[in-house]
Amino acid sequence: MSRRQALLLLLACGAPVAAGPPFRTAGPFTPGGLVTVTLPPGARDFRVDDVPVPEAAPGIILLGFGRDATGPVRLSARAADGTLLATEVALAPRRFRIQRLPALGVTDTPAPEWVARRETEIGRTLAAKREAAARTGDSSGWRERFRIPVSGRITGVYGAQRIYGTLARSPHWGLDIAAPTGTPVRAPASGVVRLADGPFLVEGNLVLLDHGAGLVSVYIHLDRIRVKPGEAVKAGDVLGTVGTTGRSTGPHLHWGLSLLRPGVGQGPPIEIRLDPALHLARGG
Ligand SMILES: [Zn+2]
Repeated sequence: MSRRQALLLLLACGAPVAAGPPFRTAGPFTPGGLVTVTLPPGARDFRVDDVPVPEAAPGIILLGFGRDATGPVRLSARAADGTLLATEVALAPRRFRIQRLPALGVTDTPAPEWVARRETEIGRTLAAKREAAARTGDSSGWRERFRIPVSGRITGVYGAQRIYGTLARSPHWGLDIAAPTGTPVRAPASGVVRLADGPFLVEGNLVLLDHGAGLVSVYIHLDRIRVKPGEAVKAGDVLGTVGTTGRSTGPHLHWGLSLLRPGVGQGPPIEIRLDPALHLARGG
C-alpha cells in the first residue's frame, strides 16, 4: 500500500487527520534545499515519510533534501491531543549540468600509497563529522542567516556531474568561488571548528565548521588555516585564506554544506549534502 493510499484509508476510516498545512515551513522543498519546520504548540513525534526526525530545538526541525531526492514527502506529527497532523509536499525538480575538467591526476588505478593516505584522511574527516552529528547542541549557528564566506566569481555549482578527462566522478558537492590567493575566508554563521587539517590529497587544507543541529560547512583548498579544532567562531571571523591546495585548478574556495544525522549503531553519520547557494538565498 502506498503512503497516499494509507492516508486515504485513514480518512475513509474516520481517523482524525488534520486538514490544511499544519506545519509552518521556511526554505525550499527542492533537491539541495534546507527547510526549517515549526510544529504547532505541543505537537510531537515529527516524522518524514514515517521516519522520526529529531528536533533541532523544541518544536523546530531541520529537514535536508539531497541532490537526488524526489517527492512528494509526507510530514506528520501528533498534536497535543493525539490528533494526527499530516501533509504531503512536492519537491520542485532541478536539473544539474555536466562539468568537464582536466584529468588532474584522477585515475582508475591510483597508487597504493595514495589509497592508504586517502583512507587516513577520510577517517579524520569522518571522526569530525561523527562528533558534529553527536554534539548537536554545541552551536546555534544553524538559526542564523548565512553570509557568503568570500565574494568572487562562481566557477562551480552544486550537483554538477564532474568528468575529469574521460573519467566520470561523484557530483560536485558545493559552490566554487574564485578569488585571489590570500583572500580571507569568513565564517558564514557562528559555529565550532571540528576539523582544521591538511594538506589532504583532494581537499588540500580544509576547515569543517559545526553550526549545531547537525548542520556543518566545509572550506576546501585553503592556502592558510587560521583556526584550531574546538575553537568557537562567530559570523565574519576569518577561518583561513583562499588557495589552490589539493585537487584544484586555480585559487578558489570550495564551500560545502551538509546536514548530518547520527548513523545506525556504530555506523558513520548519515550525510545529506545541501546546496550552499540555496541556503544563502533563504529569506531573500
Ligand atoms: Zn568545488
